[in-house]
Amino acid sequence: MTQEPTKVQTLVVGGGIGGLAAAAGLARGGKDVLVLERAPQFAEVGAGIQLAPNALSALDRLGVLDKVKKDAVVPERKIYIDAVTGQTIATIDLGEEFQEHYGYPYIVTHRADLHTALLEACQESGLVRLETNAEVLSATNQADGTVLVKTLAGAQYIADAVIGADGVRSNLRGAIIDDTLVPSKYVAYRGTVPIEAVGEDVTSSPAVLCWLGPNMHLIQYPLRGGKLYNNVAVFKSDAYSPDHDNWGTPEELDARFAACCDAVKNAGQYLSRDIRWPMYDREPAGVWVDGHVALLGDAAHPMLQYLAQGGAQSIDDALAISEELTRTDDVERAFAAYQDRRLLHAGNIQRLARAAGELFHIEGVARNVRNYAFQNHDPKDYSNLDWMFMPLDRAPQERSYPA
Ligand SMILES: Cc1cc2nc3c(=O)[nH]c(=O)nc-3n(C[C@H](O)[C@H](O)[C@H](O)COP(=O)(O)OP(=O)(O)OC[C@H]3O[C@@H](n4cnc5c(N)ncnc54)[C@H](O)[C@@H]3O)c2cc1C
Repeated sequence: MTQEPTKVQTLVVGGGIGGLAAAAGLARGGKDVLVLERAPQFAEVGAGIQLAPNALSALDRLGVLDKVKKDAVVPERKIYIDAVTGQTIATIDLGEEFQEHYGYPYIVTHRADLHTALLEACQESGLVRLETNAEVLSATNQADGTVLVKTLAGAQYIADAVIGADGVRSNLRGAIIDDTLVPSKYVAYRGTVPIEAVGEDVTSSPAVLCWLGPNMHLIQYPLRGGKLYNNVAVFKSDAYSPDHDNWGTPEELDARFAACCDAVKNAGQYLSRDIRWPMYDREPAGVWVDGHVALLGDAAHPMLQYLAQGGAQSIDDALAISEELTRTDDVERAFAAYQDRRLLHAGNIQRLARAAGELFHIEGVARNVRNYAFQNHDPKDYSNLDWMFMPLDRAPQERSYPA
C-alpha cells in the first residue's frame, strides 16, 4: 500500500548553510518548515569560512549573529602576499574604519560553528522539522499550485513552496535550468591544525593571509578564538581530464608548491591529503524559479571560491527568500520578488569570482605587473569592495560592478 504524501507548508531541500539559514528565517517569520537532508546527520566539513559584512548583516537580521560571533575571530587585516617571493602585494585593513564603513566586521569562523548556530536557531524556533537520510530526487509543480516532492527512500510530500538548497550538484536544478558543471581544473586541499602546531605567533595580530602564486594559492587564518589554524591550498592540475577523477593528487600539490617560498612550502604539512575538493562552477543562470520551486545558494549560483562569497551569498539568499515568503502567501509572487532581488547580483559575483581566480593565479611577467599595480593600494580604501561587501539593505539599487 502506498502511503499518502505528507502535507507541509514550506519544504527546504538540503541542510547546508543556505538551507538552514532559509529555514531559520522562515521560522522567524512564523512559517512551518520541513528540511530534508541527504546526509545521515546535519554537519559541515571541518574547515574555516570567511564571512564578509554582507553575510554578517544577513545573519543579524536572521537573529543568529550573536551565536555565530561567539567563537569567531575578527582578523585585523587581509594580506595578499606573493607566494614565490614572500613580498606583500596589498593589504586590506579590517579594523575600526572597515567596521564603521560597513556596519559589521569581517570574521573567520569554523564551518561547524556557523552550521551549529543555524541548526540551533531552527531547533529553538519550534517550527522547523529536520529529517536526515532523506535524499530528494524530484520536486514537481502540480496543477493545483502545490509541489510533489519524492525522496530516494520512497517518501512523498506535498508542499506549498519548495526551496532547493541542495548544493552545486543540485537534483532540483535540472528541472529549471538546462546546464552542466564547468570544471575549473583547480583542486583544493584543506587542513585545520591546533595552533600549537604552528611555529610562529599568528594570534596576537590575527590576519587572513592569501599567498598568491603561479597556478596556485594558499589561504591561512586562525579559528575558534585562536585555538586552531586553518589552511586551504588550491592549485591547477596539469593532469585534469574529464574522463577520470584521478587528477589533482597530493604529489601534484607538492610539485606545484615546491616553487614557493618557505612559509608556503611549510604549510604543506598542515593539509589533510586524503580529501580533495575539485572545484566546479556553472554559468550564471537567467532563472532560478519555476512555479512554486526556487533554487538558493550553490544550487542557484555555484561559484569558484576566490572571492570567499559562496556561503555569504547563500545567507543573503536565505534572508531575501524568507522575507519575501513571509510578506505574502502568494508563493509565485514571493519567489519572483526573491529572484529579482538576488539573481543579477549573485550572477555577477559568479562571473567576477572567475576573474579573481585569474588574478590570483597569474604567471610569468604578468605576475610582476599585477604586483606592481597593487603596490600603492591604500589598505583603507574600500571603494573596490563596496559592490560585494555592502549589506543588502544599505547597497544602492544600482550597484556598480568592476568592469
Ligand atoms: C575550498 C572552499 C572555500 C570556500 N570558502 C568560502 C569562504 O571563505 N566564504 C564563503 O562565503 N564561502 C566559501 N566557500 C563557498 C561555500 O562553502 C559554499 O558556497 C556554501 O557552502 C554553499 O552552501 P549551500 O547551503 O548552498 O550548499 P552546500 O553547503 O553544498 O549544502 C547543500 C546541502 O544539501 C544536501 N543535499 C545535497 N543534495 C541533496 C538532495 N538531493 N536531497 C537532500 N539533501 C541534499 C547536502 O548534503 C548539503 O548538506 C568555499 C568553498 C570551497 C570549496
